[in-house]
Amino acid sequence: MTATQKGSNNMKQARWKCPICNDGLLAPTRPRLDDVRRYCLPCSSKSGRLVERIAPALEAQRTRRSDARREKAKNARKRERARIERKHNSPREVARRKYTEQGEYGMNIKRETARLWKMLNKIPQTLEGATRTKSVVSRNKPPTVKLMKRGWRIDDSDGVWVSSRAAGIAYGSSISIAPNVSWETLAHEIIHCAGYHGHDRAFYYALKWLTETRWKMILDFSDVTRYGYIVDATIESQIASRVRAEFEKSE
Ligand SMILES: [Zn+2]
Ligand SMILES: [Zn+2]
Repeated sequence: MTATQKGSNNMKQARWKCPICNDGLLAPTRPRLDDVRRYCLPCSSKSGRLVERIAPALEAQRTRRSDARREKAKNARKRERARIERKHNSPREVARRKYTEQGEYGMNIKRETARLWKMLNKIPQTLEGATRTKSVVSRNKPPTVKLMKRGWRIDDSDGVWVSSRAAGIAYGSSISIAPNVSWETLAHEIIHCAGYHGHDRAFYYALKWLTETRWKMILDFSDVTRYGYIVDATIESQIASRVRAEFEKSE
């Protein structure tokens, strides 16, 4: 079949009517712009302006199509809203909100972070790295604490399972935590944000000072022979019951 045949066979016709005299005729649904059948010539010559004929069937079809389009767009918007709503209230999202706000024993993460950050302003000059810490702490807002995206999941009964090896990660002025972060982990990451990068003696003495100031007690470091994560366990064993009592009572 050639293009010409196809064109002539498939040429759809519509009834075009003059809006003024109502005179009509059959013409292609898409007449060329200069097709004389587009216009009512008697009315045009009477009014001195081109009077265009309209095709009611085509107008109706156009209205139907735009209605359908509008309806389709409306449904798409509705579906999108439902999707967002579902996502927002998914167990994972609910857990994300909860554990961004509260840590172990219901500790208020934001409040505790602000408190410890402010405390670091008073770090004694005698401690290694204290000058840098003071300048970091006085210049910057408390670190932002976010829940890590990966490394944890929600089980069927909405319990949270942490599979990440790191309970917390500090980078610059932000801290990424796993759900249910402990006070000890939060304090550890805050010391990193305050300018102590390695897990060396200076780091642990700053953490020791912060812990002692926060809990109004003295930590026993007499068993500490080398510095690294093992010292976190030493600290934790000496403050665990105070931390628990403090945050459980504030519930
Ligand atoms: Zn007319
Ligand atoms: Zn660390």
